[in-house]
Amino acid sequence: AQRNLGVTVTDADWRNFVPGVMILAVDPYEPAQLAGLEPQDVILAINGRPAYQVGDVVQAVANSNGFARITLRNWRDGRLVTADVKLDWLGAPISSQHGPPDLAQELVDRITRYLGMPSIVTRPTGPPDNAVATMETAWDGSRIPVILYDGAFLNDLYRNHGRYASLSVLAHEVAHHFHGDATFYGSFTNAWTQELKADYVSGFVLARAGATLEQTTRAIRYSSSVHGSASHPDMASRLMALEAGWHRGKSR
Ligand SMILES: [Zn+2]
Repeated sequence: AQRNLGVTVTDADWRNFVPGVMILAVDPYEPAQLAGLEPQDVILAINGRPAYQVGDVVQAVANSNGFARITLRNWRDGRLVTADVKLDWLGAPISSQHGPPDLAQELVDRITRYLGMPSIVTRPTGPPDNAVATMETAWDGSRIPVILYDGAFLNDLYRNHGRYASLSVLAHEVAHHFHGDATFYGSFTNAWTQELKADYVSGFVLARAGATLEQTTRAIRYSSSVHGSASHPDMASRLMALEAGWHRGKSR
């Protein structure tokens, strides 16, 4: 699990007596930019440990528990500043320039990382107007967790109902793998309780991603085909499960 500050950095310039690690560029929508860091800022310490070279920054980020308190010298006025950076992506907005399906793999990667799960392969070959969590068998017989999705379906959700609508669908499918109730494609028979548990986790993830309750429930309320299965629960139950998970996500 790799945490990402979202910066390009270079070693300090010792010849000119500038200790620290200088930021050359910040990536849009990544944690550093969201915390207000700018190019030419000089990182002096992370989580209480001095940063003398690029490796120190890399290590501090890797060793963190999703949070970095960065001491830096502001490039504008030379002041020492402390910036608190949340390294877990789920606090950050999703770029408005690229929606699913372009981002599907990235979004799923970030959700699994956040939940501490093994990675899941995504593929835009899902059933029409839907997404599904399934297992595939590798050449050596091992089982591979996969999420298949309809790219046009995710794109429509994204365009018409916002970034959290498509995220909630992917989070729901990740949750099926989280609970270990993804089945082989074609034998999809999840019971209501499995569906409601997946909705609960989806609500939890969406809360952590900064979605309001209204945004969290949009996909279910506006797209009747979301996860259509022979045995999907009624909408009221699913909304309750989403809401319960969302409140849980907000509570910590
Ligand atoms: Zn489901």
